[in-house]
Amino acid sequence: MSLPRFSSIETIINRNKEDFNFEDKESKNIASYFGCNVFNDEAKKKYLSEGTYKKLKDAISEGENLSRDLSVEVASGMQKWAMDKGATHYAHWFQPLTGRTAEKHDSFFELQPDGSVIEELSGDALAQQEPDGSSFPGGGLRSTFEARGYTAWDPSSPAFILEVGEGRTLCIPTIFVTYGGEALDYKLPLLKSEAFLENAALKVCKLFDNNSDVSRVSVTLGWEQEYFLVDEALFLARPDLMLTGRTLIGKNSPKGQQLDDHYFGSIPERIYAFMRDLETECHKLGIPVQTRHNEVGPGQYELAPMFEEVNVAVDHNQLLMDLMDRVARRHKLRALLHEKPFEGVNGSGKHNNWSMSTNTGKNLLKPGTQPGKNLEFLTFFVTTIRAVHENAPLLRASVASASNDHRLGANEAPPAIISVFIGEFLTKVLNDISEEKLSDDDGVKDVMELLAKIPELEKDNTDRNRTSPFAFTGNKFEIRMAGSTVNCSSPMTVMNSIVGKQLLDFNERVSSKIDEGASKEAAILGVIKDYIIESKPVLFEGDGYSDEWKEEAEKRGLPNTPNTPDALKAYVSDKSKALFEESKVMSEKELFAHYEVMVENYILHLQIESRTLGEIVINHVLPASIKYQNELAINVKTLKDLGLEKEKYEAQVTLINDISDNMSKIKGYVIEMTDERRKANEMEEAEDMASAYCNKVKPLMDKIRIHVDRLEYLVSDEYWPVVKYRELMFIK
Ligand code: ADP
Ligand code: MG
Repeated sequence: MSLPRFSSIETIINRNKEDFNFEDKESKNIASYFGCNVFNDEAKKKYLSEGTYKKLKDAISEGENLSRDLSVEVASGMQKWAMDKGATHYAHWFQPLTGRTAEKHDSFFELQPDGSVIEELSGDALAQQEPDGSSFPGGGLRSTFEARGYTAWDPSSPAFILEVGEGRTLCIPTIFVTYGGEALDYKLPLLKSEAFLENAALKVCKLFDNNSDVSRVSVTLGWEQEYFLVDEALFLARPDLMLTGRTLIGKNSPKGQQLDDHYFGSIPERIYAFMRDLETECHKLGIPVQTRHNEVGPGQYELAPMFEEVNVAVDHNQLLMDLMDRVARRHKLRALLHEKPFEGVNGSGKHNNWSMSTNTGKNLLKPGTQPGKNLEFLTFFVTTIRAVHENAPLLRASVASASNDHRLGANEAPPAIISVFIGEFLTKVLNDISEEKLSDDDGVKDVMELLAKIPELEKDNTDRNRTSPFAFTGNKFEIRMAGSTVNCSSPMTVMNSIVGKQLLDFNERVSSKIDEGASKEAAILGVIKDYIIESKPVLFEGDGYSDEWKEEAEKRGLPNTPNTPDALKAYVSDKSKALFEESKVMSEKELFAHYEVMVENYILHLQIESRTLGEIVINHVLPASIKYQNELAINVKTLKDLGLEKEKYEAQVTLINDISDNMSKIKGYVIEMTDERRKANEMEEAEDMASAYCNKVKPLMDKIRIHVDRLEYLVSDEYWPVVKYRELMFIK
């Protein structure tokens, strides 16, 4: 099943004697190749006629459908560009609900009946494909007779060329839908949610300035990707890492992250070579990666780009995860994207920094320098907080997965309780407004004065709270509870939908106050005040890891849902159904189908983990323990035969006993686990099955692990069959 432990370590030692020699592209000017593999503006200008270029640009910026004629012209220019760059194939690139990306390659070259070859990407082939992805999860949206899924071009995300070895493929970002147009992917709901939010945000912008040039509002996303790197040979010596992406057993290393010597420390040479190589690949694809550093866990790192429009940012993150995997292999490393590869050290998250920006270049969550503008900031700020409070369960559900369950609430990552951190100054501003500590009549003048002080806050970024799942950080909200493997579309779709809905509500409430005779400013401030009062329970500045917070949160009525099967139910609550229906982000049918896929994903992950653990224990751990125990037994017998006193071999006898105790516990739990798994698998309802895996199978996995890790401590290093934590984390 896997390489033996010692041969893996030997492989590394030998390999490290060879020189890793990778071309250092960093010394070259990034500007000379940034985006060279993207069908960007520059490429479009060169390969499309002036008219086509302009029509395409207008259609994209207005979010309109493209005419068939236009598709034909774009396809031909795009193909010429790709072939000039050495591409031989093209692929519709999409994001099925499995969480990663999918592509099906077709050659540009078509063989004609007369034996001749034509090279063509037709307008139809660009616009739509039928990849027959009938094996992708569709959650009952596709009954067998209409099992086909269709991919349709999304011109708002630019096409790009993927280089794999010597091969080059033109990738066309697409959405993945059923024949009836129902979403089978993450992208379509995301695009719809952005449109919904835009429409609502524009209405609110108009409240502030009816004559402004603001005609578009887009969502911006800046993700921060955390990950671990381990040596490939060691990775291959761990069946659990190979099959599940995390270690299912493994005793803590005596030295872990206690010394904090890895965090922001100097980057080891080989890792540095990987990072440079990865960044070059990212830059070629126009992914604006910017920062890289060590993270808290030994062997843990982070990469973050400049923020971008949400659709493109999501694509870039999905691409990055693929690139990471590929580039790591080049360096004989493996990238671990799992939320919790190692027990006892920090897991990996993917902070989603979210904001809204207008076509005039204004960030709606940036406190401006003029108080008048700050009232607009305050509106978007408070509306977002209110939306989060109102829809905390749905937001929690958007980041729920089997792997993220190890992180949320595990005393290092944000808790599973959703609260919002806004910092000392803004807390004071909100308190003053809600408690009416204002001297003038309608409070407007006072609030304006208060708000004029906000810009100072931006300069002072010191009071950040790392324990909060949702924090305001100067000019954006940071969603910290997202896990490292998540497709950002999932939390982004929920954010856009809930804030969009809240903005519509805001607009309505203000209008009715105006109708009742209030001045516009007073009406706006009045609704802001109501919102602050209504969402006060969700605001929390303290330590989110503490037990006191759990108690306090319960008193405040905030939900705490630590496991995925329970968390996911928020997707199909009446409230969510109504929200997604109203926003047109997902129909009830789509919602249930997506829910079903997520529940199924959960079950499958736990099923694979539990089976893998069973195999490792029976095939690796127990045989090794028995071998060592035999050696001890022979030793005891020999000493006895030599006539030595009992106390001379007592230690060995104790060891033999301890090993036996742990082995019999393990054997018993494995039988129980297998039994529970069988029972779960026979259940009719997916929800019941997920709950059985969560509440019956998973606890047994934890019990097995305790005894396996004790054996790791007892059994001779020489016999231990799998690579240990210290080796995985510290050999680079
Ligand atoms: P930290 O690690 O302290 O949270 P970083 O500087 O690593 O902060 O990350 C900040 C992230 O926020 C970056 O990805 C950046 O692009 C993103 N960001 C900054 N401004 C915005 C914005 N207006 N909208 C969305 N994301 C933003
Ligand atoms: Mg962050």
